[in-house]
Amino acid sequence: MVKAIATSSRTRDIIRKHRFTFKKSLGQNFLINTDVLDQIIAAAGLDETRGALEIGPGIGSLTERLAKEAGKVTAVEIDRRLIPILQDVMSPYENVSIVHSDILKTDLQQLWQEQFSGLAGVSVVANLPYYVTTPIIMKLLEERLPLENIVVMVQKEVAERMAAKPGGKEFGSLSIAVQYYCEPELICIVPGKSFMPAPNVESAVIKLKRRSEPAVIVPDEAKYFHVVQTSFSQRRKTLANNLSAFSGKERKGELSELLLGIGIQPERRAETLSLQEFALVCEMLIKNGMLA
Ligand code: SAM
Repeated sequence: MVKAIATSSRTRDIIRKHRFTFKKSLGQNFLINTDVLDQIIAAAGLDETRGALEIGPGIGSLTERLAKEAGKVTAVEIDRRLIPILQDVMSPYENVSIVHSDILKTDLQQLWQEQFSGLAGVSVVANLPYYVTTPIIMKLLEERLPLENIVVMVQKEVAERMAAKPGGKEFGSLSIAVQYYCEPELICIVPGKSFMPAPNVESAVIKLKRRSEPAVIVPDEAKYFHVVQTSFSQRRKTLANNLSAFSGKERKGELSELLLGIGIQPERRAETLSLQEFALVCEMLIKNGMLA
């Protein structure tokens, strides 16, 4: 029986056969651990009625398993050198499409229409290139794609930030953006030796289950995230200090009074506020003409 691609011997064979050399700048660390693969697949909850978008298939370690589990798999890879390799290793699977593109420059609405119409649901399942994890996640969330969930391998610290609750130092604007749209669930921690070549950081698999409605009702999404970003602009400063960017120096005293009026101590730090409290702050700033 042919071994899975996600084993060190098969990965080595494919790399040798195609004389492939890893590009660190593209975050190329290929998964060589089938137990981790099992956990990713179980978390994604795929079946033949569902589709999977894979970002960065590499030589196809995850793509191979997705092809067996999902009705349709579309894999978007930036590295031109990997396209013929993927076409070769994926030739037994009719339900796989390989797209040569940079995911950040890809029109995802169009890709959805072309690749996934008629399916019961679509998940993003990927071992993400670490140098662009946050922009990719933000693009997936902000484009409001009809996604069921996102199951991704990311750097452990990034997974912790996505799942962080208010109060700790990991809680920040990424936690809020992710939790506004999704319910995060940490699936497993993955050591460096599960990859070829091994990165010198730990990784984690995280599942982001898309909420049917955002976690909080906000007056205006763009303004809400602007308030969040501004509140975290200097983490060591108090909330009132960071928010004075909206009130101006002359109305700073008034701003503190207004914060107290909505039950928020002005000397609190942004990382202690809940998503709901940020919504209250946003509403208060708009109401008082500090945020147009
Ligand atoms: N999925 C494979 C695996 O698990 O073994 C490879 C994962 S590797 C961490 C990341 C992959 O993403 C590489 O194949 C890399 O070439 C690709 N990649 C990097 N930047 C990309 C981008 N902007 N768009 C699409 N693919 C990208």
